[in-house]
Amino acid sequence: MNESIHGECAASELQDQLTELRGRVTGLIEQQTAISEVLRAGSGMRQVMEHRDPSSPTTMPGILRYGIAVLSVAIAIGLDFFLLRHFEAILTPFLLAVAATVWYAGTGPGVLAIVLSVLSLNYFFLRPFFSFSPISYTDLVYLTFCIFCALAVGWVSGARRRAEQELRQAREELEATVAERTASLQRSERYLAEAQRLTHCGVTAYKGSTIFFGSEEIYRIWGFDPAQGVPNRKTVLQRIHPDDRDRLDAEVARAVREKTRYSTAFRIVLPDGTVKHLESIGQPVFSTNGKLVEVVDTEIDVTERKRAEEAYREAQMALAHANRVATMGQLTASITHEVNQPITAAVTYALAARRFLSADPPNYGEVNDALSLIVKEGNRAGEVVERVRALVKKVPARKDAVAIDDAILEVIALTRAEAANNSVSVRTQFAEGLPRVQGDRVQLQQVMLNLIVNAIQAMRGIGEGARELQIGVNADPSEGGVRVGVQDTGPGLSSESLSRLFEPFYTTKPEGMGMGLSICRSIIEAHGGRLWAVPCEPQGALFQFTIPAT
Ligand code: ADP
Repeated sequence: MNESIHGECAASELQDQLTELRGRVTGLIEQQTAISEVLRAGSGMRQVMEHRDPSSPTTMPGILRYGIAVLSVAIAIGLDFFLLRHFEAILTPFLLAVAATVWYAGTGPGVLAIVLSVLSLNYFFLRPFFSFSPISYTDLVYLTFCIFCALAVGWVSGARRRAEQELRQAREELEATVAERTASLQRSERYLAEAQRLTHCGVTAYKGSTIFFGSEEIYRIWGFDPAQGVPNRKTVLQRIHPDDRDRLDAEVARAVREKTRYSTAFRIVLPDGTVKHLESIGQPVFSTNGKLVEVVDTEIDVTERKRAEEAYREAQMALAHANRVATMGQLTASITHEVNQPITAAVTYALAARRFLSADPPNYGEVNDALSLIVKEGNRAGEVVERVRALVKKVPARKDAVAIDDAILEVIALTRAEAANNSVSVRTQFAEGLPRVQGDRVQLQQVMLNLIVNAIQAMRGIGEGARELQIGVNADPSEGGVRVGVQDTGPGLSSESLSRLFEPFYTTKPEGMGMGLSICRSIIEAHGGRLWAVPCEPQGALFQFTIPAT
């Protein structure tokens, strides 16, 4: 039982770990989504910038940059001469030249381009042509306008380049942040994978027949190769134990329908025939408009734990059996007496029958009575032997609806002689119409046997005073079953005894094993009940246990 308590503790610890892992997985998935969005935004921005930033002015040698100023103004002059003169659009090529220079070569060459443009305009295109002329008021206004326009173009180009530089810087910072977060994400993923490996807990996400995701551990548990990609759900379903498949399907379907989480256990069978026990907790995830997005499912491989529990259980059963045989051993003298009594009686009746037969005339009526009594005594002896055999036999645990009062009466019958030999009077108080309890009859009888033998042994030690054993069975509505009490008038329980009674190997008897009460408690707890002891006034001890009804 201790082991099964440990099992339950381990199960609840695993449950907690699982909840935590689920939280972490959700966190990681959110983090990953955020990062991929940042990455997407980053790459989009990079594409735009690559398109808009053909070359950086700062990386060009100075001479080339100023050369661009001269060249662009020269091209503007050429354009004006040969193409645009007649269209009254003299200014446009120069504005373009200034803009291009600022854009490609920077502010310095831009200023040079403005100066060259003004000079060229004056020299080539203001009357008189081909000479620097004193500038008339109209020309001054015109040139000032030109310079203003050129400055404006230059300013716009400069601002744009500055914006691009800021953009580039932002991109670099963004990339650094992304790299940092990616590294942290990878670290978390490593820890998560390690945690999953240690706890044999995997995560998967699916919807209908599609599996979106499976963690490393889930592949390991199910025996799939991650290199082959996500297996299809049909293959996965085939690995579920045929006896568990429909139930599992129904449980998941119900959880989705009721929008609740499910918690279940099932078996899988690998291609080599290995059977694994899994415990799974799943959570259906819905979109804001209530449509099922996916089911996130965590699965723990509890095969090893199951095996260990089974081994403990078997060891515990063996120990309980050994203890029962030992207790019965202590009763050998009394039981022998109990069997001897009917046999002696039968022999006496047989001798009497012989006398009635040899009488003249033979008294057949008396013979018949004697024979009936022999049969009765024979049956009585047979019943005692049968009870002893049932208690000593090694049988697997059963779950039956047990009439607890009958089971207890049988144990009282077996210990009656032992009580009488020790001058103990036994009183019983059984309530009427007790409900049946769910459990193993022989195990429950073992508990009673231990409690009764302990009580008789405790009272053996007291000198004077009444030795009374009182056994009561009542319905216990507050515990939803029956309550059994075994009370004696022995020395009672010291405070040390009280705190250690149920510990294995705690005994105050020279020939004691100290296993009886600890086994009794595990049996009662395995039946869903409780066993405890209290000292009585003015003396004695009261042991009580409860067992839930069927
Ligand atoms: P064992 O009978 O082999 O000692 P148990 O586990 O049955 O092992 O009992 C442990 C100890 O509890 C006993 O040795 C005894 O000291 C104490 N004990 C059990 N039942 C009683 C009782 N009815 N009155 C007083 N002490 C008891």
